Amino acid sequence: MRPINFCSGPAALPKTVIQQMQYEFSDFAGSGISVIEHSHRDFRIRALFDEAESLLLNLMNLTSDYRVVFVPGGATLQFSQIPMNFLGSQKAAGYLTTGVWSQKALRAAARFGKIYEVASSQNTGFKTIPAVHDWNIPNDLTYLHLCTNETINGVEWLDDAPDIGLPIVADMSSHLLSRPMDYQNYSIIYAGAQKNLGTAGVCVVIIKMGFDRHLHPLTPDLMQIDNQLSQRSMANTPPVFAVWVLLLVLKWIEAEGGLDSMYKMNQEKAVLLYKCLDESHLFHNDVKPEFRSLMNVPFTLTDENLESILLVQAEKNGLLNLKGHRSVGGMRASIYNAISKQDVETLIEFLREFERSA
Ligand code: PMP
Repeated sequence: MRPINFCSGPAALPKTVIQQMQYEFSDFAGSGISVIEHSHRDFRIRALFDEAESLLLNLMNLTSDYRVVFVPGGATLQFSQIPMNFLGSQKAAGYLTTGVWSQKALRAAARFGKIYEVASSQNTGFKTIPAVHDWNIPNDLTYLHLCTNETINGVEWLDDAPDIGLPIVADMSSHLLSRPMDYQNYSIIYAGAQKNLGTAGVCVVIIKMGFDRHLHPLTPDLMQIDNQLSQRSMANTPPVFAVWVLLLVLKWIEAEGGLDSMYKMNQEKAVLLYKCLDESHLFHNDVKPEFRSLMNVPFTLTDENLESILLVQAEKNGLLNLKGHRSVGGMRASIYNAISKQDVETLIEFLREFERSA
C-alpha cells in the first residue's frame, strides 16, 4: 500500500495526478518530447500557462480584473518582492503577526520601508489571532499584510477578509484552494505551490489590477511585477515543470467538484482529527478552537519521551512526516486537499491504538 504523506510541504499530491504525470511526461501534448524539453516560447507552453491562469482564477471565482504571475523563488521571495513593488521608500505598510511565517514576512519587508506591526498574537504563543478591533492601524498605510494560514503554528484566518479600508495582501501558501473564500476582497494573494497546489519551483501571485504600484528604485527588472505581468510570466526562462504539475492539480480539483467539494471534505477531515485529539489524554492541540487550521494540525504528547517512539511506529505503519516543525517541536499532521478522509481515519486509528498501548 502507498504510504500516507502528512508532510507540510513539499506535500502529498493526489494519486491520480502522480499517475498522470507518469503517463504524460515523456510526450507533452502529442509533441513527442517532454514538457521540460520545450522552449518556453513554444505555443503549447504558452497555452499551458494561459490555461493554468484561467483555471486558477475560475476556481477562485475571480473576474477579469485579476491576473496571475507564476514566479520562481517560493513564497519567501514574495516577502521581499511585494514591498519592493507596492510599498515605496516613502510609504508604510501594516503587518499582522500570527505566527512564524507572518513574522518572517514582516522582517523581510522592514528592509524596504516603514513597517507597522498592527497586532501580534505572540503573547499567546501564536494560539490565537488578534481581533480586528484591537489592531493599531496608522493612517498612512499602503497595504495590510497577513498570513491567512500559519503552517507551523496551525492557526487559520477563517473570517472574511478584514474590512479596514486598505488593500489586503495575503500569504495563502498553505491553504489556497482548500475552500471557497472571499478572494475578491484581497488585492494580492500569493502561495508557494508545494503544499496544496503542486510542486516546489513556482509561487502563484494573484494581483488585482487596480492596486497601486510604488516601485522601489533598486528593484531588479526580473522582480518588477509589471515586467512579469507584461511578459506573461516569461520575463526569463520560467519553471515550466512546476506550472505543468500545477495545471494537473487544478484540473483534479475541478474534476472533484471544485472548492465547495474540497471544503466539505476538508471540514470533515479536520473535525474528525481535532475530535480525536480533544478526546485523548495523551495528545493535545492547544490552538483556540475558533482559529484551528483545517490544513495543518500540530499536536503535542503529554509525555514528550513518547514522541520519537510514535514517529518510528507511525513510519512503520506507512504514516510519514508527522514530526512538527523544528522551531516548535511536537507533531504535526498536514491534511491538504490530496489527503483523503480515509487517510485521516487511518491516522486516527493509529493514534488511538498508540494511546491504548502507551
Ligand atoms: N509562507 C507560508 C505560510 C509557508 O508555509 C511557507 C513554507 N512552509 C512559506 C511562506 C515559504 O515558502 P517557500 O519555501 O516556498 O519560500
